[in-house]
Amino acid sequence: MHSMLTGFETYSIDTLATLIQQWHQPRFRTKQLIEWVYQKYAQSFEDMTNLPLSLRSQLEQNAPLHRPACVKRQISHDGTRKYLLKLTDGECIETVGIPSLRLSEDGTSKRLTVCVSTQVGCPMACLFCATGQEGFTRNLYPGEIVNQVLHVEQDMDARVSNVVFMGQGEPFLNYDNVLGAARILNASYGCGVGARHITISTCGIPQGIKQFGAIPEQFTLAVSLHSAIQKTRNHIMPHCASMPLTKLKAALETYYEQAGRRITFEYMLIDRVNDQKNDLRALIDFCQGLPAHINILTMNDIPGNTLNGSHGDRAKSWVTQLEAAGIEATIRTSRGSDIAGACGQLKTQSGK
Ligand code: SF4
Repeated sequence: MHSMLTGFETYSIDTLATLIQQWHQPRFRTKQLIEWVYQKYAQSFEDMTNLPLSLRSQLEQNAPLHRPACVKRQISHDGTRKYLLKLTDGECIETVGIPSLRLSEDGTSKRLTVCVSTQVGCPMACLFCATGQEGFTRNLYPGEIVNQVLHVEQDMDARVSNVVFMGQGEPFLNYDNVLGAARILNASYGCGVGARHITISTCGIPQGIKQFGAIPEQFTLAVSLHSAIQKTRNHIMPHCASMPLTKLKAALETYYEQAGRRITFEYMLIDRVNDQKNDLRALIDFCQGLPAHINILTMNDIPGNTLNGSHGDRAKSWVTQLEAAGIEATIRTSRGSDIAGACGQLKTQSGK
C-alpha cells in the first residue's frame, strides 16, 4: 500500500496556482515558488525570504518540500551517469545524465541531456525492456520528475540543455503529471529548457498523442515503434496490442494536422525479430504521409533476456535504405550501456 503523498512535488504550476488562490495569496506567488524550488534549488521554505512568514509556515505544514535521495550512482566510461534515486515514500527510480561527447572550447560539455522516469515501474511489459519485466508500482508527480533533472544538474555541475522522457514508465499513462513536469522544465521561471528540447517518448497511446497535439507548446513527440508489422509488434510490445498500428497511424496524422510538428520514431533492431527485409518495407509504408525522423538503435543486452541486438552493420544499411526511400534516419549510438543506463536497461531495484 502506498500512502498518499502531500508534498510540494505533487503540484503542477496549475494546481499550485489553485492552492495559492485558495489561500488568498496574490497570483505572482506561484511564480515565486516555482522559481525558488526549481530554479534556485532552495532546500527549505525558510530560505524563501521574499515570501510572507505565514505563507511559508502554511506551505511547511501542507506541502512540505522533499528532494530525492541518491542511493547509488554509476559512471560510464563515456561520461554517462546513472542514478538510483529514492523518493519520499521509499520507492526507487532511475535517472540518466548524458553529457555531449563534443566539448566546448573551454573543455566543458556542450550539452547535457537528462533521461527521466515517469512511473515507478511500467505496466507495458515490453519484451526488450528491463523495466517492463518488473511491473508497475505508481505514477510519479510533476515535481518528482523535475527533481530528477535538478539532481543531475547538481551532480554534474552543468545546466541541462535537453530532457527526454524515456526512462522508466509510459509517459502518456501519466499524462497530466508528465505535462505538468514538462511545463515546469520549460517555464522561464522554472528550468528554462526550450520546448523543442523536451521530448516525450510514448509506446504509442493514441489518446495521449491526440491530446499532446492540441497543446500550445512545441514539445517534441517520439514514438517507440520497433515494428510496423502488427504481429511482430504484438509479440515484442504485448500491451500495445489493444492499440493497433492503424489506430496509432490515425492518431499521428491527427497530431500532425494539429501540431504541424515532425515525429521521431524509435526503432530498435532485434536480431531476427524485427530486422528483416519485410520489416524494413513495413516501416517505410508506415511512414508514408508522416513527417518522420527515424532513430535506429541496436538492442542492448539485458541479463536473462533471450532477445539480442542485430549483428554487423544492419543499422547502417537500414539508414541508407530509409534515406533512399526519402525518409530521414539516423543511427543512435547507445550511451552508458556498460552501466546498464542505456535504452531498455533501467530497473527499479538494482541487483534484483
Ligand atoms: S519500453 Fe517503455 S513502455 Fe515499454 S515496458 Fe519499457 S518503460 Fe514501459
